[in-house]
Parts: sequence; C-alpha cells; structure tokens
Amino acid sequence: MINEHYVDMLKERSVIRAISERAAARRAEVGEQHVFDFSIGNPSVPTTHDFTEAMIDLYETESPIALHGYSPSTGLPVFTQAVADSLNRRFGMDYEPSHIYPTSGATAALAHAFRAVTKPGDEMITFAPYFPEYRPYSEAAGLTLTVLPCDPKDFQIDFAALEQAMNPNVQAILINTPNNPSGAVYSAATLQRLADLMRAKQEEYGHAIFLISDEPYREITFDGAEQPYPSKFYDNTLSCYSFSKSLSLPGERIGYVAVNPKAEQADIFGPMFTQISRCTGHNCPGASIQRAVARVIDETADLAVYGKNMELLYDTLIELGFEVVRPGGTFYMFPKALEDDANAFCEKAMHYDLFMVPSDSFGMPGYVRMSFCLDTSKVEAAIPALRRFVTEVYG
Ligand code: PLP
Repeated sequence: MINEHYVDMLKERSVIRAISERAAARRAEVGEQHVFDFSIGNPSVPTTHDFTEAMIDLYETESPIALHGYSPSTGLPVFTQAVADSLNRRFGMDYEPSHIYPTSGATAALAHAFRAVTKPGDEMITFAPYFPEYRPYSEAAGLTLTVLPCDPKDFQIDFAALEQAMNPNVQAILINTPNNPSGAVYSAATLQRLADLMRAKQEEYGHAIFLISDEPYREITFDGAEQPYPSKFYDNTLSCYSFSKSLSLPGERIGYVAVNPKAEQADIFGPMFTQISRCTGHNCPGASIQRAVARVIDETADLAVYGKNMELLYDTLIELGFEVVRPGGTFYMFPKALEDDANAFCEKAMHYDLFMVPSDSFGMPGYVRMSFCLDTSKVEAAIPALRRFVTEVYG
C-alpha cells in the first residue's frame, strides 16, 4: 500500500509553482520578452567571484579524499567556527562552534528547530502573511500551526491578537523577518515587545517558549536599514538561516541553525540535532560547499539590484493607485489587489502577461505577492503592461 497522505498532498499544489509554470508555458508561446513573471523567488544575481574562486581552489588543492569525504554529523569545524565568529562579530553574540548546526538550507534548519523544541500535538504560532511552506513543515512535525493577523499598516505583529492567542500549549513562536511575502522588517521595538511578552508567558506557564526565527533574507534590506538580530532580544531563540538568498546559492542547499548560548539547555541542541537528522533522513550540506562558504562567510552577492527594483516597482504601484507598504527588505512586494478577490485579479493580470501570486496561501486574502528578483530592464519593461492592465481593467 502506498501512503495516500502524500498522494493527497499532490492535490494541494503550490500556487506559486502553478503560476510560474503558466508563465513558463506563456514564454514558450510568445517569447521571453513579452512575459512579465513576478511569481517566483529565485535569486537573479550570481554568487560572488570569491565563492567561485574558493570552489576552484578547493578542487585544485585539496585531496579528493578529504574534499569529498563525509562531513562529521555536527558539521565541519571550519564551517561552524566561521559562522560562529561571523555572528559574534556582527551581532555581539557569544556563539561557540557547537551552537551552530549546518543544514540543507533554511528548510532543514526549520525542520530541526521545530522538532527540537516541540512534540507532536503542540501548538506553534506564526503571523500572516507567512511563507506557505510553513504549513507542510509544521504538519510533518505534528504541530498545530496557529496563524495570527498582523497590523496591515506596516505588517508588524498585532500584539493584542498574540496576547489573546497565547495558552500553555504554545511551545514555539515562528517569525520570519525580513518577511516573505510582505517585505516587512521587524523593528527593534517589535522584537523587544515580543521578547517581553514571551518572557512573561514563560513565567506564567512555567515552561520555556522558544522563538524560531527564520532569516534567509537577513542581508537583503533597503534604505540603509539593517535587520535587528532577533536572538539578541530573547535567549530561547533558534535562528534559522540560509545562504540561498544572500550568496545566491539556492541549489547548493546550505544553511544552519544557531542556538542562542543562553537558551535553556543550549549545549544539548547540537547532539540532539544529529539525532533529528538521523530520524528525518537529513545529511549535512556537502563538504566542499561547507568549506567554500566558510571562506566567504561575510560576503553577499551584489544585492543592490533588489533595492533598485523595489524603488521602481513601488513608485509605479503608488502612481497607479495601489495600496502598498514599502518593503524594508527581501525581494517581494505585497500590494493590495484592486478587487476583493485576489485570484480574479491575478487571472485578469495574466491576460496582460503579468504573472503575480494571489495571497490566499500566505494566510492574508486580498493581496498579491510580486517577486522582483529580475533584471531591472525586465521590471522597466513590465511597467507599460502594468499601466495598461490597471487602466483598462480598473480605470
Ligand atoms: N523560509 C522562507 C521565508 C523562504 O522564503 C524560503 C525560501 O524561499 C525558505 C524558508 C527556504 O529556504 P531554503 O531554500 O534555504 O531551504
């Protein structure tokens, strides 16, 4: 007997993928230059020259046995040391290499974090709009995912809703900042208030409540702003990171979980993660990739294009009368659709070869996600199509 659960999951296909496939089909039909695909969040800038050089150098100078050998299950010391040093330097933390656990991107970092601090049947809270994959990730860990509204004027946390939803079964709160899909960057004030509330609830319920902080867009911020480091505000924090976006390495599958050294039982997490890996079939990221990333740990790809695209798209949307919050980071924008039904809005946009994702699966209906990891020339070329769409359909 096959497992019908996974067959059933096929019926709930990712809306993002479905729309990007429609965009690809349209490209094949009318040509790349006529299609404006804002659907998918794939980095559009190459990784750094130094990363490529590091890979070449490793291949030319390391013994193949060492280079391609098994990584220790807790990761290569050269990688965990480099990550710990970098985080300590940048955010004034006190990580030891043993607090850093390498994972196959943020996906696996979250899988380990969820399992380390919750048991099946527990509740985890997150905030809309949220990355739709949080649903299957949390269901696979047996968790009930409670999605709370945000404050729509700036996409920060709605604390009244959070206060009301807290109960002793909540073992973890999951945040994502900078946020996919809203582009919001949680402010220091938001993180402080969240930390204060969580500390009070820990006290009240007599057990730890962990903050799981999903941070793959940490370095993609605009207008000179920086993302305050969530773990700095709250000791019981597991920071989940990925080099997919900052170094444009999504196919290499490398990230980590960083356990705050002041978290309860901080030193047991590393060994525990090795057991979670055993049980989930996860393996450390490739040994050569760990070595190469360690050499360029403080670098990012040239992320400037995302800021440029954001300005261009934001100004255009405002001019066209959209309600939209200026993103503080990521490569997404989250305007309100021009009619209540965002699905209908996106269907109509497709007649103008504009591909955007309706927001229902992000837990906040009535909006659309526009991913602008594109060449700036592509965003420029999309503007007349956007203008035509809005004036002809809604003008
Ligand atoms: N979390 C968020 C918010 C994301 O947007 C993504 C990927 O787009 C992930 C996690 C997964 O990242 P990775 O590709 O590193 O597994």
